[in-house]
Order: sequence, then structure tokens, then C-alpha cells
Amino acid sequence: NGSGGTEYHIALLGALGVGKSALTVKYITKRFIMEYDPFLEDTYTKHETMEKEDITLKIMDTFEKEESNPDRYLKWADAFIVVYSITGRQSFEGARVYLDSIVKFQKSSGKDIPITLVGNKVDLERYRQVSKSEGKTLATQYECLFYETSAAEDYELVNKIFEGTLRELCRIKERQ
Ligand code: GDP
Ligand code: MG
Repeated sequence: NGSGGTEYHIALLGALGVGKSALTVKYITKRFIMEYDPFLEDTYTKHETMEKEDITLKIMDTFEKEESNPDRYLKWADAFIVVYSITGRQSFEGARVYLDSIVKFQKSSGKDIPITLVGNKVDLERYRQVSKSEGKTLATQYECLFYETSAAEDYELVNKIFEGTLRELCRIKERQ
């Protein structure tokens, strides 16, 4: 499959302000950058190796406009990372809506699509509105991997989120 190896597509979904761009940029550059254009949607490329296989990862950091069509990520992505902020109850309810739409698409397409649920901003513990066990329960309901993390602090953990998602993708491919 060429020199770039296998190509996988991962889309990040979640309410505005939960840290999708911060997590993406942290994973790509190891840096936390405070401000991005919050209305920007962009796709990034990263090369990884997993079990000696070369992998090209394309990561879509989404921004949802009211009139925009979810097909652009639903049809594009091989896996999803659904993000909420542990400091925002509404963003947690938003995550559930995204999970529902992925599952609905999954059923209609017959595709096996790994989902990772992420509770971001754990550095803001004192403002926590969503408990870790609520996050875990939601992840179990939708058969997702689950992590709590902070794009502001923990590169290793942010890396694990993407690695874990990639590992699931490789597992699915092996079964095919
Ligand atoms: P997006 O709309 O989901 O892409 O959210 P952004 O990545 O643009 O982040 C929104 C705001 O939250 C920005 O001001 C970020 O600096 C901030 N932010 C993102 N992740 C974290 C985090 O883990 N901890 C803290 N304290 N702030 C964060
Ligand atoms: Mg963003």
C-alpha cells in the first residue's frame, strides 16, 4: 500500500470549546496553545508506526456550523473521538447526541467504527460538573474507550488517547 502505509481517518467531535483543537494540536506538536480560531475546521496528518506497520493518520478537528452536513465526517472517518469538558454538563449531554448519531450511522452503514470518549480539562478539577463515573457509564453504554485528560497538561495521556484509538483501528483491520 505505498510508502505511507495504511491510512486511517479519525474525526474529533464535541461541543464548541471542549478542547478538540487543543487536543489535536497537543497530539501533533506536543504543545498546548491557548487560542485558535474557534470556528476553524481543519485536517492534520501524522505518521505513526504500530506493530512495525507504517500508518498515515488523518485527523479532522471539526467545527459544527448549523448548516453543515455531518456526512463530511460520518462518511470520512474510520474512528471517532468524542470530547466533552468535565467542567460543562451541557457538553456531556452534547457528547451523548454525537454518540447517538455515530451509532445510527454505524447501523445504517454496517461499518465497524471504534469510538473513544474523552472528558477533557481535568486540570480544572475545582470546576468539575461531570463525575468520572458518569463518563465511564456513558462509555460502557456505547462500547467506547474512555479517558479523562487535560490538553493543557498531560502530553503522555493525550498521546494514549490517539494511540488507543489507532490500536482499535488496527484490530478491526486485522479481523477483515
Ligand atoms: P474546541 O472548540 O473544542 O476546538 O475547543 P478549543 O480547543 O478551541 O478550546 C477552547 C478553550 O478551552 C481554549 O481557550 C483552550 O485554551 C481551552 N482548553 C482546551 N483544553 C483545555 C484543558 O485541558 N484545560 C484547560 N484549562 N483549558 C483548555
Ligand atoms: Mg476548535
